[in-house]
Amino acid sequence: PLDALADPGLLKRNALVGGAWIDGADEGFAVNDPATGARLAVVPNLGPADAEAAIQAANAAWPAWRVMPARERAAILLRWHRLLLQHADDLARILTAEQGKPLAEARGEVLYGASFIEWFAEEGRRIYGETIPTTDADKRYLAIKQPVGVCAAITPWNFPIAMITRKVAPALAAGCTVVIKPAEATPLSALAVTELAERAGVPAGVLNVLTADAEHSIAIGKVLCESPVVRHLSFTGSTEVGRILMRQCAPTIKKLSLELGGNAPFIVFDDADLDAAVEGAMASKYRNAGQTCVCANRLYAQAGIYEAFVEKLAARVAAIQLGNGLEVGVDQGPLIDDAAVAKVELHVADALAKGARLMAGGRRAEGLGPRFFEPTVLADANPSMLCSREESFGPIAPVFRFDTEQEAIALANGTEFGLASYFYSRDIGRIFRVGEALECGMVGVNTGLISTAEVPFGGVKQSGLGREGARQGIEDYVEVKYLCLGGI
Ligand code: ADP
Repeated sequence: PLDALADPGLLKRNALVGGAWIDGADEGFAVNDPATGARLAVVPNLGPADAEAAIQAANAAWPAWRVMPARERAAILLRWHRLLLQHADDLARILTAEQGKPLAEARGEVLYGASFIEWFAEEGRRIYGETIPTTDADKRYLAIKQPVGVCAAITPWNFPIAMITRKVAPALAAGCTVVIKPAEATPLSALAVTELAERAGVPAGVLNVLTADAEHSIAIGKVLCESPVVRHLSFTGSTEVGRILMRQCAPTIKKLSLELGGNAPFIVFDDADLDAAVEGAMASKYRNAGQTCVCANRLYAQAGIYEAFVEKLAARVAAIQLGNGLEVGVDQGPLIDDAAVAKVELHVADALAKGARLMAGGRRAEGLGPRFFEPTVLADANPSMLCSREESFGPIAPVFRFDTEQEAIALANGTEFGLASYFYSRDIGRIFRVGEALECGMVGVNTGLISTAEVPFGGVKQSGLGREGARQGIEDYVEVKYLCLGGI
């Protein structure tokens, strides 16, 4: 699938450390197409020594990068942004080939990913400090903002480009240097955008990429966490791994940005526009085959519209086209790996055993290979089911019934997660009440799509720390320094 790239130079098979594209010491690891199982490429399987070298390279590159005027850094970032747009088709092909999402969604991710670079290039020029009214006639107080230093980024496979640019762009714009460890399933997207960063003029050592398989990723993660040179770690992935990284970062009191798991409720009240709610549920639930941390995981429909909602949703879901993401007309590709399929199968079997009614899908799709799972709707879901507690991360929609607003809020908040929530209502009072009562970082009201570079993305409770995107997304990459000027 990667023979047809317009620019074959974007298919990189080396990691980048200190401006050099390197091979690993051993034979590397394979990157496979989740749709077909075919091998796409072999990339270096780096280890702790390479991680240490990348940290040193980033540290060596930092002094020059931090003193470069923000406007010049912005110019480089804007060139990087333009290159992503220019090569969007090739990047989308690489992304689909290794990740599985349909080409149109992959292209959407390239544009979304690029938008963070543009946004933070602009924001980097507006990292304002403040002057503080004095309490002492012969003193003056200033608070300035400075880049934190060398940053590490560990990223997931579900948005292999956007999760990198959302971290790297604010870091670079603020004057930090970065070491990235992309997910083992999707290093090719990471390497392609890094190649474009280099072409845009990002200096050697400012951006480094360490490819590694699952086992080596753990070892590299330890080095990144434990290094006193690395001042900030940004991670997007599971809450479980987030906890490990947080623990490993404790000895060096590292600054942390964590974007972890979600268990998003999607509530439809009796007064909702039902067709809009069904469309919102389709977008929120089945995008990327349900493999996003803000995907609706638990759907709650109020008793008065329950059956109508379930039926309309099931009818829409039945029309979803499954297939290889590279083919035209496909809406849903494969899941990322066998474990992902097994988890979805377990959640469906568990729900059916506990009384769920199967309204659509429910099994692996026939004739497409082992990774394709039919988009599924389960009615009569109840809180005893695994799918009500755990993130399914797949194309299954359990629909729970509720009676009152209070009950819906309590059910929605009954989880240790707090990333995204959604609800549909046309009652303005209810919109404020529920919007304010939901324990989460982001609320979609009458919409299933909430992400854009301009808004703060992140969670509360065990869904993470910090915000990405928006004005706030650059703050984790700067330190405030207070200057007290005496003898005035
Ligand atoms: P997902 O559930 O999305 O696969 P993970 O949290 O397992 O998410 O993985 C996200 C990223 O974290 C990947 O880049 C992966 O290699 C990395 N990772 C997983 N476990 C560890 C670990 N113990 N230390 C460092 N990185 C890890």
